[in-house]
Amino acid sequence: MQKLISVALDVPINQLFDYIAENQDIKIGCRVKVPFRSSTRTGIIVETKKLNTGQTAYKIKNIHKVLDKSRVLSIEMMETCKWAATYYHYPIGQVLFNALTPIHRKGSPSPDRKLIFNENSSKYQLKLNEEQSKVVIDIYKNIKQHQVHLLRGVTGSGKTEVYTQLAIDLLQNDAQVLIMVPEINLTPQTVNRFKKYLDLEPLEYHSNLTPLQKFKVWRACKEEDRLIIIGTRSSVFLPFKNLKLLVIDEEHDQSYKQTEKFKYNARDIGIVRAKSFDCPVVLGTATPSFETIHNVSIKKYKQHLLKSRYFKSMLPLVTIVDTSIDKPDEGLSKTLKDKMKIELNKNNKVILFIGRRGFSNTVICSECKTIVKCPKCDSNITYHKNVERLICHHCGFSQNFDSVKPCCENPCLVPLGIGTQRIENKVKNLFPDKNTLRVDSDNISSKSDLKDFIKKANNNEIDIFIGTQMIVKGHDFEDVSLVGIINIDAGLYSTDFRGLEKTGQLITQVSGRAGRQKVRGNVIIQTNNPKHELLQKILREGYEKFSKVALKQRKTVNLPPYSHIGVVKVSCSIRQLAKMTLVNAAKLKKNKSIFVYGPAPSQTSKKNNQYFYQIIIGSESSSLLSKHITIIKLYLSSIDKRIKWYIDIDPIEQ
Ligand code: ADP
Ligand code: ZN
Repeated sequence: MQKLISVALDVPINQLFDYIAENQDIKIGCRVKVPFRSSTRTGIIVETKKLNTGQTAYKIKNIHKVLDKSRVLSIEMMETCKWAATYYHYPIGQVLFNALTPIHRKGSPSPDRKLIFNENSSKYQLKLNEEQSKVVIDIYKNIKQHQVHLLRGVTGSGKTEVYTQLAIDLLQNDAQVLIMVPEINLTPQTVNRFKKYLDLEPLEYHSNLTPLQKFKVWRACKEEDRLIIIGTRSSVFLPFKNLKLLVIDEEHDQSYKQTEKFKYNARDIGIVRAKSFDCPVVLGTATPSFETIHNVSIKKYKQHLLKSRYFKSMLPLVTIVDTSIDKPDEGLSKTLKDKMKIELNKNNKVILFIGRRGFSNTVICSECKTIVKCPKCDSNITYHKNVERLICHHCGFSQNFDSVKPCCENPCLVPLGIGTQRIENKVKNLFPDKNTLRVDSDNISSKSDLKDFIKKANNNEIDIFIGTQMIVKGHDFEDVSLVGIINIDAGLYSTDFRGLEKTGQLITQVSGRAGRQKVRGNVIIQTNNPKHELLQKILREGYEKFSKVALKQRKTVNLPPYSHIGVVKVSCSIRQLAKMTLVNAAKLKKNKSIFVYGPAPSQTSKKNNQYFYQIIIGSESSSLLSKHITIIKLYLSSIDKRIKWYIDIDPIEQ
């Protein structure tokens, strides 16, 4: 009997393709080879239907062959992918293919290879302190049902040991446990911490594995009743069959969001999957994202606290340098230089942190400390060097430097921020005998660069690390006794609405990094405005109090977590065409509950001779937002093909 099957292909078209199959026991979630246009493609069966005679069967092509006997995507995974395709407005075929291993994606058969599990006899008995035990007991009360728990623990409180104890308890019976970490370089140390106490070996999953290694872990998830995986973002798509616990460590970390192509957030997909398995989720962090804080306050998530550090080590001494008095030379104030000298002479290590790239575009008056705002919408305005103009990223307003309304008697407008490279040169000049390493996305872009960096860091080959947020992610660099934050202002006055939140997290995380070991660490923060209210708040009262105030500000502008937003971006070689496309798209708004910002040039406003423009669409209702984006998508699909467009739901930066 013939069957009509709907197949998803790895193509940027949001639809399924119909084929006819002769095969009797053809199953959803299996792969097939099919003719498509003039080539042969691998596809995944999404639906099967009976073929009625008399249907226009002559138009429908036959499949070439079926590739799998058993499913490569479970029903649960297919459902999650369908949800994600709708939620993120990304083509279903590409979402499904994203969930496959590279071997399956290529259309190759499943290799007849299996993981050999190594014996792991744990030599240590984990003993929790009182706070940790209490949290474990609390979470364990609801261990068999879906509930999102926030484990809010100060840096060094031993959150990992809480996860480990939960895993030990669950793994006494059959259970699959997934521990997600934000960065690949955090996997080895996390694996070692778990390994110490478990009687089975944790498996690693991340982009550095070979296709065959990935396949073996994939197969283990499909077949083994009892395992624990420690993985990065992509591990959220592993084919679990018996997931009993999902831990998302450093849940606030932006690395959980994929920013290219399929722009999903692994934390959010993880929560959706955990729901299907009726399994609990533990989000762990010292600095919860504002979304998560909000979800705790509306009682969607349950909060657990670890208030004290496990080793009663002291938090570092934080010093503020007023850069309008102690003027930095190539980014370094005298205070910072002197302290570096002292620490480096003791053979201690130093981290110099530079805010992320987009941060340097806010414009400040160095005389009166006023931030230049857009006269139309009051957002911080952005300096665009290539056109020498100030442009508002919210509403698109643009002006010259000299048309800015004077803020004081002697206005002196300067863009905030200074590049990593210039600081690196300066540091090398000052400390020629020390080993300096610049860690940023320009310098470390490939897997081998990253491996090299981790190796050097772990071998104690580096004395001074200079870089962007990459360096502060949970590394346990021994002997780091000084962290200098070169320019916190770029974060405090960012043009990105999440700038303040990220800055608060940064200060807290960085401070937790310095001097974890024996000696008390030092943090030096350079700022143009030491009296900044929220900077004071975080330094004096900590992240929690800070977040309360910052969240109130967020509420007044109705941005996430008080609304849901999506960015629609277009690119075109003709600037006016890109802009007009979005002017028209913005006009599609009919509903009062939808708001639209822009069009405005994107952060990267021109690349490869393409101009980038964007609008931000928002609503308090995520389903209304989704419906409206669908309308915009329809419009964009109907226009000039020279205009490319992209959609980013829950964007992490604009
Ligand atoms: P977190 O996991 O919260 O980020 P850290 O890793 O920063 O905490 O620091 C906690 C330190 O205390 C680690 O060195 C960890 O091994 C140690 N530690 C925490 N809890 C325990 C425990 N119950 N038994 C032994 N060591 C612990
Ligand atoms: Zn504006």
